[in-house]
Amino acid sequence: MTREFDVLVVGGGIIGAAAGHHAASAGYRTLLVEQGDYASATSSRTSRLQNCGFMYFMDMHGAGIMQLLRDPRRIVSSLELARRAMRERAAFVRSSPDRVRKLEFYVPFGGATGITGLQMRAAAKALRLLGGGEVPLEAAFLSAKEARAHPLLRMTAKADQLRGAFRYVEYQYPSPERIVVDTILKGREAGLDARNHTRLVGLARGGTGWEATLEHDGATSIVTAKAVINAAGAWVDDITGLASNHAPRLNTGAKGVNLLVRLPAGARGLGFETVTERGTPFYLFPWGDLHYIGPADSTADAKATEFRATDAEIAEILADASRLFPDLNLTPDDVIYSWAAVRPRTAGPNAPQGTFDVREHDLSDRGMPGFIVFTGGLFMTHRDAGRRLVRALRRHVAPSGPSRVLDYALSRQADEDRVTAASVRRAIVDEQARTLSDILRRRLLVAWSDDLGLGLAEEASRHAAGVLGWDEGERQKQLALYRAEVERSFRPQPAVLGEAARGTGLETVVEV
Ligand SMILES: Cc1cc2nc3c(=O)[nH]c(=O)nc-3n(C[C@H](O)[C@H](O)[C@H](O)COP(=O)(O)OP(=O)(O)OC[C@H]3O[C@@H](n4cnc5c(N)ncnc54)[C@H](O)[C@@H]3O)c2cc1C
Repeated sequence: MTREFDVLVVGGGIIGAAAGHHAASAGYRTLLVEQGDYASATSSRTSRLQNCGFMYFMDMHGAGIMQLLRDPRRIVSSLELARRAMRERAAFVRSSPDRVRKLEFYVPFGGATGITGLQMRAAAKALRLLGGGEVPLEAAFLSAKEARAHPLLRMTAKADQLRGAFRYVEYQYPSPERIVVDTILKGREAGLDARNHTRLVGLARGGTGWEATLEHDGATSIVTAKAVINAAGAWVDDITGLASNHAPRLNTGAKGVNLLVRLPAGARGLGFETVTERGTPFYLFPWGDLHYIGPADSTADAKATEFRATDAEIAEILADASRLFPDLNLTPDDVIYSWAAVRPRTAGPNAPQGTFDVREHDLSDRGMPGFIVFTGGLFMTHRDAGRRLVRALRRHVAPSGPSRVLDYALSRQADEDRVTAASVRRAIVDEQARTLSDILRRRLLVAWSDDLGLGLAEEASRHAAGVLGWDEGERQKQLALYRAEVERSFRPQPAVLGEAARGTGLETVVEV
């Protein structure tokens, strides 16, 4: 196995995957290490939106568009972020249409919303001017009469006082995990050496560059690299801390919580976006047959935070939902399941939940030559992150191999949404899956279903056992670990666990 690299990428979330893909395609001999599985941290807990950038006018930490207009610096940075989002949305949808689906969103104004028609028209115009024309917003304004009669909007508080609504199209990724794995695979085609279940535990300057100590299956090994891309998301400061005691803190974590409910048939296929009375964003949009509601955000340290929603966070989202949709009468019993993660945000003064900055930081002038940290990385602009990181890399290290054309086209495998002997084998042999969770949650598109993939766990474990050589004890352990992960991280309704377990072998799982 090669031990000398041009660049080491730390982290196998979407930002590390994009960095690895871009660096390998640029001709860099690149190693990527991920301590768990690819996309097993924040990148697997998103709201799945390839947002058009509209949110940058809606939820600048409580600032409405009128406040933004009074602060020229903020409007410049919001316009830049929205422009980037529009550009990346168009590029992603065009290159990988199989990996996205369209959602119809409505932003009502008047009524109880606190949003005016003037504000909405200004935001819509700004978005139109920012481009993305090849994948249009399909924007339209509804009159007051149309908004009041609309099947979803008529369920909102004070619907009879609505003055209208803005309708536009967003795109959603049915499986962000699959996009991360696909991006890693594209990187590997370009020569990337990608290793999951491999943790970086030490980093120091050596004679030829950076010396990294890696841990895999209980054994350690050392590799060297001329440069490091720190793409460890909410953990970037821990990675930098392995190599330096005095580097600046660049990340501020913000815990985000989402949940799913089943809404009346009239809401089917329809999405809703607004700003709560606290000035925070609120979304309600289709998730298959269910509806997503959220988020609830709070300051959090990724090291100390469990990736699961608390009762209080669920109650906060339901309280917002009840204020906006009082007749739905949603209670904790209506929550099918929930999830949470820590958003990596760029640290900034007076920003307890971080800033919206998305950027690379070159720490070369801090005594860390060729050490580049990425902060605030978003799923929806990950390819832009990959390009920026390679530009930063070029300032320090020349690629040791030839470059090749970046291949962005991600396409579907015919059986990727099914558990079959062939799909499980491919996940293991070609796509580096090692555990039942790797297979169900991050290779096959079966885990964001109503039962979180539990109903297919038994069958998948039997196929996997044949390929990975699991004995019956190991197979039962994998089933138990998967069920425990689902229970702990997603807090499903008891019925989900009960129904999924019946007849699947899960009711007999061993203690772990
Ligand atoms: C609730 C919620 C909803 C969101 N919704 C959206 C959305 O709709 N659209 C959107 O664009 N964005 C969304 N985001 C934001 C987006 O998910 C994240 O910003 C993005 O996934 C961050 O990717 P990342 O690669 O930086 O981090 P991660 O995915 O967390 O990857 C970092 C990786 O580094 C690894 N790592 C850490 N330490 C080590 C080590 N020592 N050795 C090896 N590996 C290590 C971790 O295991 C982890 O896998 C949402 C976030 C949350 C929390």
